[in-house]
Amino acid sequence: MTKIIKKIKGTEDVLPKQSYRWQFVENIMREESHNFGFKEIRTPVFEHTELFSRGVGQTTDVVQKEMYTFDTKGGESVTLRPEGTAGAARAVLENSLTNEGLPIKAYYLTSCYRYEKPQAGRLREFHQFGIEEYGTSSPAADAEVISLASSIFKRLQIQNLHLEINSIGCPSCRLKYNEALKEYFSKHKDTLCKNCLNRLEKNPMRLIDCKVPSCSEIAKDAPSILDYLCDECSDHFEQVKKYLSIANIDYKVNPTIVRGLDYYTKTVFEFVSDAIGSQGTVCGGGRYDGLIEELGGQHLPSLGYAMGIERLLMVMENQGIEIPRPEPCSLYVAGLGGNAQAKAFEIISTIRNSGLSAEGDVVGRGLRAQMKYADKIGAQFSMVLGDNELEEKLAKVKNMKTGEQTELALDESFAEKFAALYMAAKFDNME
Ligand code: ATP
Ligand code: MG
Repeated sequence: MTKIIKKIKGTEDVLPKQSYRWQFVENIMREESHNFGFKEIRTPVFEHTELFSRGVGQTTDVVQKEMYTFDTKGGESVTLRPEGTAGAARAVLENSLTNEGLPIKAYYLTSCYRYEKPQAGRLREFHQFGIEEYGTSSPAADAEVISLASSIFKRLQIQNLHLEINSIGCPSCRLKYNEALKEYFSKHKDTLCKNCLNRLEKNPMRLIDCKVPSCSEIAKDAPSILDYLCDECSDHFEQVKKYLSIANIDYKVNPTIVRGLDYYTKTVFEFVSDAIGSQGTVCGGGRYDGLIEELGGQHLPSLGYAMGIERLLMVMENQGIEIPRPEPCSLYVAGLGGNAQAKAFEIISTIRNSGLSAEGDVVGRGLRAQMKYADKIGAQFSMVLGDNELEEKLAKVKNMKTGEQTELALDESFAEKFAALYMAAKFDNME
């Protein structure tokens, strides 16, 4: 027997009976983005490797260890996107979107690829919803993007997601801070992991979010960035807090949040859940005022974040949040014999053309098996067509929930009459 090929480790299928959960969440993300004035951006799944090494940062875990990088047949190095911001920023520059008025407000719903150790909430192919706002240095924008995330969580009825915020300053406040970190961590060189030892000189802030337990233990008592902020960064942080309070959004200042990507400046934040264990960060983001410049553009203060859809769904499942199921088939038409089956096919088409869902047999089943199938898919109404019905041009349409039968003439107004019956039943259900 030929072997069945299995999926790649760290990837997941979203099966037809589960996809409504994704669609529900994605629809709310789209609607809320629209309400906040963000439009969708779609960028390619792969980009030149240099975009990520420059945009995300050479010393990050993502670039050092997690990227899916390969050479094309033409000998070019390309990388599957490990995150959405670098590609969006590239598209903004390449398409000169800055000429169309600022700020540029975009969102994406996309797959990402990272070579990580697969576990619950940590995959090699995962999905993100992300927000990008380019061309504003105002603290009101920081509060706006955070507010959008918060609105999405509210609409999804998620409880106990805590917002934690911090400021990691600008390159000038970080000069002094990095010196303080180097001095602090140098005293613990014996205990640091190899990776951290390597990063200590180049980018000591990375040591604060190292996930190796012995390193995070040391990082707990490291100097706090908040003691090193320059006046402008400090003032910005105060303003962000003020705007969050105006928007009625609770937060906690957590000076240990530095985020894993190099492009962040000033505000950084995470929404954390304690419901799904160690992979509890559902959403993370902040400002990246230097990113567009880093990628060859003008100075363009910007910000954004991404949330992991798999993690979000895990939190929702964990909290028992019910996701409304899509409405089942409105009418199942069973056909008995060749003529009746052709008529069933015709009726199904007219019902579908009228904007309602309808199904019939496409397998060649007998009547009993067809009715069993109608039951299984949860059809709201069913009807059987046989020689009698064709002769009398009359069919009995059965409400599968109440058992009530209604006779409808099989004429050109059948779809219209069925729609009325269907709407009346729907109305009864609502009462
Ligand atoms: P973590 O610290 O958990 O590794 P991160 O800092 O690498 O997260 P970001 O790059 O900020 O994460 O990505 C934003 C969000 O995307 C995360 O908060 C998380 O919800 C989700 N995410 C990141 N990596 C994965 C992954 N490998 N599998 C599933 N979701 C992920
Ligand atoms: Mg990570």
